[in-house]
Amino acid sequence: MRLIHAHICWTEDTPFSEQHQDIYYNPDKGHLESDYVFYSGNNLEPLIQNKRPLHLHIGETGFGTGLNFICLWKRIRETNESRSLHFISTEKYPLNRSDLKKALSNWPELTDLTDQLVPQYPLNTSGFHHLYFDNNRIKLTLMFGDAAESYSRLNAKVDAWYLDGFAPSKNPDMWSPELFREIARLSKPGTTFSTFTSAGIVKRGLRDVGFDVRKQKGFGRKREMLVGTFVENTTPTPIEKPWFELPASEKPKEVTIIGGGLSGCSTALALAERGVKVTLIEQESQLATGGSGNPQGALYAKLPVKQTIQGELHLSGFLYSVNMLKRIDPAESFWSQCGVMQLATSDKELARQNNLIDQETYPQELVSLKSAEELSEIANTAVNFNGLFFPTAGWVSPRALCDHFVDHPNISVVQQQVNDLSFAEGLWQLATQSGELLSASHVVICNAEMANQFNQTDHLPLKTIRGQVSITQAKPANNKLNSVVCGDGYISPAQNQQYCFGATYDLQGKERNVTQEDHESNLEKLGKVLPEIHADVASESNDLQGRTAFRCSTPDYMPIVGPAPVQDQLIETFAQLRKDRKWRFENAKAEHHPNLYVNTGHGSKGLITCPISAELLASMICDEPLPLPKDVIDAINPARFIIKKLIKQTI
Ligand code: SAM
Repeated sequence: MRLIHAHICWTEDTPFSEQHQDIYYNPDKGHLESDYVFYSGNNLEPLIQNKRPLHLHIGETGFGTGLNFICLWKRIRETNESRSLHFISTEKYPLNRSDLKKALSNWPELTDLTDQLVPQYPLNTSGFHHLYFDNNRIKLTLMFGDAAESYSRLNAKVDAWYLDGFAPSKNPDMWSPELFREIARLSKPGTTFSTFTSAGIVKRGLRDVGFDVRKQKGFGRKREMLVGTFVENTTPTPIEKPWFELPASEKPKEVTIIGGGLSGCSTALALAERGVKVTLIEQESQLATGGSGNPQGALYAKLPVKQTIQGELHLSGFLYSVNMLKRIDPAESFWSQCGVMQLATSDKELARQNNLIDQETYPQELVSLKSAEELSEIANTAVNFNGLFFPTAGWVSPRALCDHFVDHPNISVVQQQVNDLSFAEGLWQLATQSGELLSASHVVICNAEMANQFNQTDHLPLKTIRGQVSITQAKPANNKLNSVVCGDGYISPAQNQQYCFGATYDLQGKERNVTQEDHESNLEKLGKVLPEIHADVASESNDLQGRTAFRCSTPDYMPIVGPAPVQDQLIETFAQLRKDRKWRFENAKAEHHPNLYVNTGHGSKGLITCPISAELLASMICDEPLPLPKDVIDAINPARFIIKKLIKQTI
């Protein structure tokens, strides 16, 4: 959802909020005030100077201009590499990028950092955004939306709170009991907080949820401010869905991954970047031979008119993948940010697209409606339909991306076929086709539709959807398409002088061969939307090459990402759901197979769902703040099918 931007008025280059009638920072000493109130108020200096490795998790309310974040980033940067920062903040009225740039230009000593923040600053859409700096040593999670609501969706443990936000007298809504309750839920004994205000509502609010609160001298002429330490949660919130509670985990030394497609390779890199040694087991001699092996795939999210959990996953995943690709391949050697058009090839789709734009659900920089003429101009060839245009979207070569993912000193790729998993004496034993027995403390199952071949995961309802793409040589004369076009099928601009288009969508098909019938179907879909390209390609129709693959999908078309539940225990513990779906379970806990995780079922959306899912799994396994909202994580939890069956009384 698009949010209301901050309405800023400038008094001599200092930003002032018209919505809240308050300043963002002290005009000439903002950075000193930030250091005093938050850095010193939370007593971070001894932590940072301590010799032990430090992964500092900070929670902030009110990101505003990002000054607090940048001041702390600078501090961490000045220390050695064993210190890293994950700064989590929330913002209900995001500044637009030009206001942000202007506001931060007041601090010339911070230019080096502000110059990196501004280009990565997210589009104005609600949800969790992820920004990475200094080789991932500094992470910024920006939750666009209301503070209490955003924090209620976060799964993390925070070391120190920066309680900023306009003064309680000017912004009473933010300093709510709901926010304080979430702050307590996300704290652990010893978590500190500091805030510029000494208002009674804040003092009492934090005391009531379990903080020891003290007053201190405020900055400059301010008399008082508050600091404190968390003791214990006095208002714990009941767990609503205990079957989705995640098992505790400690960062392991090594992880073994089964399956070398987009999901396995992205998971491998997310772990390797955290210093974990990864063994990636792939049964074929090459990576990405299954659904991830097409020469090109469209990188975009089909967005719903009204926000849904699936839409949120797709949008977050899309934004995450685009940011990641910009970071890892700025020269666009294996992807292209050429834009994607999603054509309205039926009246129903046209009405849906009009509705989506009328409701102003998404910002214009993300998606806008264009006429067939405008799209023809952008695509550089005749386009038959009106449609949506996504300028920041594009295409990716999934196989090249997989190769890039595993090119890391912490990853070794092994060719083996794993047939069976068993757990003995604290370790997983992986029985392989060649007879060799491998062992591992942690295993992530990423082998698409084969993920339910193991006893532990045989309850996962996976299905395959056959798809064939057609590939043809693009002669210089017809090598002219400039952006990805999605109609009933899709086509990308030529890569290595070849067009790749398709794909068929066959729920029953098991045929591995490339068929002429499917080529005809792909050509027909192409002809409907791009007559000129079709005319060129159709003349070569007998020389079409192709590739068939099977997308691995699930009944709800959401991927399966998370810990592997113990099916029998889940059924027994939550049996009461058969009689009453709203039953409140006291102290009931879901059990999981120890250190066994699943990442599969990405269908044809792997380019946008795999990288964010990999980050999610790596964060779960390494006990870090999770990058997706709790309700989205629940919606992809591997236990959901068992629970749905209990509720429907089909198990
Ligand atoms: N920390 C900021 C910095 O370093 O520039 C300054 C924060 S400014 C004083 C307060 C911020 O809180 C504003 O950007 C405002 O839009 C945001 N805010 C106000 N109410 C909020 C709410 N309910 N949820 C999230 N953010 C909120």
